[in-house]
Amino acid sequence: MGMTAPATRLRIGVFGGTFDPIHIGHLTIVRWAHAELRLDVVRVVPTGESWQKAQAGASADQRLAMLQLALVSDTFAQIDDRELRRGGPSYSVDTLESLRHELGNEAALVLIMGSDQLHNLASWHRFEAILGLAHIAVTQREDVRLSQFPNAVEQLLAAHGSDRLPDTAAGSIVFFRMPMMPVSATVLRRQIAAHQPPVELLPGAVLDYINQHKLYRSP
Ligand code: ATP
Repeated sequence: MGMTAPATRLRIGVFGGTFDPIHIGHLTIVRWAHAELRLDVVRVVPTGESWQKAQAGASADQRLAMLQLALVSDTFAQIDDRELRRGGPSYSVDTLESLRHELGNEAALVLIMGSDQLHNLASWHRFEAILGLAHIAVTQREDVRLSQFPNAVEQLLAAHGSDRLPDTAAGSIVFFRMPMMPVSATVLRRQIAAHQPPVELLPGAVLDYINQHKLYRSP
């Protein structure tokens, strides 16, 4: 092959979640994905009305406020509130389509998720369309193994799995490493309700906000 063109394609990470509340596991993902995958920016996308989870504990505005507090010093992170503005259920595929529309076909989109989400992927709305719009980057979540996925996911991995992100706009599944973070928002909310907030697992400003607004007081 001839000379290698400089990699000028923008790499945009897309990290969706309920963020109810944002915790150190989420922050670790955002920071390690940014570094390990050489992303230019990471869009952090809080979900609107969740279609797979029970009613959120905090309001959309409160979840957004906590994201802003947690990410204030991560200049590469951009909070993207399109799912909140859209209202109704949030499907990742719709969000990716909307981002594609906004950013054009050249930019690489990289959908970031924990291994628990990859296990569920085949249950997502129009999951087959996702790899036409974005890459998928997965990191390990505690004891959720990075193997023995359901058949439909194994087939996707066989067809799209890759050691590293290629210089294309979409279409590959990669794994990236980060330190294991044993934390989940569900457990955090329970601990806060029991007046045992795990201070080491929440950004200080987020914990202050939770206390000020008396969030998650009932289990
Ligand atoms: P819940 O406990 O309510 O399920 P959560 O902590 O999983 O909440 P979400 O906002 O639903 O938080 O997660 C958003 C994304 O972050 C998902 O892709 C999930 O896999 C990932 N994630 C959350 N916590 C961790 C963690 N501790 N380690 C790795 N990935 C995580």
